Amino acid sequence: MTELDELQRRMHATYGERDRRRGIPATVAWLAEEVGELARAARKGTRDDQLHELGDTLAWLASLANQLGLSLDDAFARYANGCPRCGSTPCTCRE
Ligand SMILES: [Zn+2]
Repeated sequence: MTELDELQRRMHATYGERDRRRGIPATVAWLAEEVGELARAARKGTRDDQLHELGDTLAWLASLANQLGLSLDDAFARYANGCPRCGSTPCTCRE
């Protein structure tokens, strides 16, 4: 089992029932809010703030993947062999 699988299993065990009740639109709203908090922390937060918001964002992303019935591992596969556009590591696409 990968660590991404482990994350999804942990989130399912901890919040699966609540996630089902909340539904996908509310989960997307919470994820967006957490990304906003992460953006703020990245700009002017402490390292602790940044770590906290990275954790919350990752948790909400895993909850959304669970509710969609999708695997973050499968999602990561898009980048597993380098840049999905040029196929290189590091990316050689024009910026
Ligand atoms: Zn590229």
